[in-house]
Amino acid sequence: MKKWSYTPLLTLVFAASMLLTGCGPKQPSLEEVERIISVLAADSLNGRQAFSEDAWKAADFIANEFAQNGLVPLQGDTDFIQDFPLYTIGTASISVTLNGSDLAPETVAAAVTSDSIKWDENSDITTIFVGAEDDLIAVWRENRNSTGALVVVHPDQKEAFDRVAGFLRRPVRSMSLEVTSNLVMVLSDAKTIRSFAVVGASEHSEISIANVVGMIPGKRSGEIVVFAGHYDHIGVRRGGDAEADSISNGANDNASGTTAVIQLARYFHSMGTPERTIYFVALTAEESGGYGARYFSQAVNPDSVVAMFNIEMIGKPAVEGPNTAWITGFERSDFGTILQEAVVGTEFSFYADPYPDQNLFYRSDNATLARLGVPAHTISTTPIDVDPDYHQVSDEVATLDLEHLTNTIKAIAVGAATIVSGERTPTRIDPSSVN
Ligand SMILES: [Zn+2]
Repeated sequence: MKKWSYTPLLTLVFAASMLLTGCGPKQPSLEEVERIISVLAADSLNGRQAFSEDAWKAADFIANEFAQNGLVPLQGDTDFIQDFPLYTIGTASISVTLNGSDLAPETVAAAVTSDSIKWDENSDITTIFVGAEDDLIAVWRENRNSTGALVVVHPDQKEAFDRVAGFLRRPVRSMSLEVTSNLVMVLSDAKTIRSFAVVGASEHSEISIANVVGMIPGKRSGEIVVFAGHYDHIGVRRGGDAEADSISNGANDNASGTTAVIQLARYFHSMGTPERTIYFVALTAEESGGYGARYFSQAVNPDSVVAMFNIEMIGKPAVEGPNTAWITGFERSDFGTILQEAVVGTEFSFYADPYPDQNLFYRSDNATLARLGVPAHTISTTPIDVDPDYHQVSDEVATLDLEHLTNTIKAIAVGAATIVSGERTPTRIDPSSVN
């Protein structure tokens, strides 16, 4: 196999850094990449589903790697685990009496998030009638975040009612116990309401999930460069043949990006104190609601984040060739151009996401930070339109090109150099341009 070859420029860069640090920079290495990704994508971690014990095992492994690589916890933290609660809130009970008669349970559906509700005709709530010809789905969409609404649906709409009822009855996940909806829907031919009584209650459970975050303090504490990748995946596939493989290992998605974050930590730590502060972030629950990125974006001051390198699925060579990677939302800031310029003279190149129809800018954790103005882009290499292993049990280390993965990590390190050194600062993304 062809090895990564150093151009004279790169050699100069590395020689200079060796003089500064006294020993050589710890380059991303094929051996280290293979060791790390083999742990993260092992069957023993069962596909790292965000809400599972396996995700905690993965988080502990990543935290240990961060420690080995000389990272320190964020200010105010004592370790690398950035844990936070996630609630599942559902309707525990609901009963409705309308014009004096008790409605049958199958004709009542509710999404209650208050601890309890008790309404009657004098309560300050909205009542909505949905006739036989009305668009129930539209009414539901309009009122789904209402904290006090009673919707009376004509019996001819039973089919649509049952469909919406399914959504209302499904417990919701939330990062807080804030009241987000109290919507009660009934199937009834009542045309007017003389009296009613609604009594309901919610119940919730709580779990703890975690990002893994470490940093290298730079000379400028208020200017942060973020290298991130989600470490969770979709877990074990239910049903199917008991003998067959059921574990979605997520080697490419996104043990590859997580491996990159760990290797970049090792590399940048070996380079001595950087000009800008660098955060290394393994995000959780990208595949299940994006909660990790949402929590991280609230825990950091987004105005101080000068760039977010979100690394996703870099285990397979891109369509443009083996030494290339693409960047989502290329035109939204000059982040991509800065990376392109930083790798001039190497055999690697960065270019714009070749799959604009796939909306990849919005399909990963970068979008959460971009909404806050951060030049936050995803770097990837996988031919996503034809990848047979995407979200399949076959997304295993054996289907990856680890030399390509290693080379891509090296290229990201070189591409980030002028941003880390403070020479270049990407333009901000306009939050109003991000949906
Ligand atoms: Zn992913």
